[in-house]
Amino acid sequence: MTKSRFAIMCGQLRRANRMKQREVAKVLGVAISTAGNIEYSPFKVIDRRKAVILADHYKLRGAQQADFMAAWEECPLSPDGQKRKEYWKKRNALRSKAKNHDPIKYGLVECLGIIITDRPDNQVCTCDESDVRRCIVCYALERVGAISPFTPADRDQILSQLAKAREELLPAVEKTLARPEPIAADDEIFGG
Ligand SMILES: [Zn+2]
Repeated sequence: MTKSRFAIMCGQLRRANRMKQREVAKVLGVAISTAGNIEYSPFKVIDRRKAVILADHYKLRGAQQADFMAAWEECPLSPDGQKRKEYWKKRNALRSKAKNHDPIKYGLVECLGIIITDRPDNQVCTCDESDVRRCIVCYALERVGAISPFTPADRDQILSQLAKAREELLPAVEKTLARPEPIAADDEIFGG
């Protein structure tokens, strides 16, 4: 297997900066063997964040920095890495599906609807601007995928977003609630 362009660049930069692989490992917070792999592998060995750290460490700027990152980008993932990537992609897709069917999210949407309808516009959001802490309403709005932070100007649009979310969530929530109760531990132990 031939080295990647990124691997070659990493070796050249390290030598030009008179560094040992051990020192590169320290900068990146990786094992020394990984720092060695970076210079020989045909595949991506480090993630984007670490490639940026390395570029910063070597003080690469402008075109040089762009080329370094492009070289990282064009490295293929190893077959194992590709498998892991697909696994996570699938897993995240399932998770976000599950999230959409979340009765808690439904409850949140209901609460937000009540708060925004009941409270005067100027009392819905209590974000603390002085220390950039978001209020619970704005946090919850973001969680359910609505406009956040709350502003009176967005009030009507937010309410229609909530109504739409409620409609989308309802069938799944009803299905969840219709599921039979799990058998209580006691019933199992004592035979009901
Ligand atoms: Zn707020």
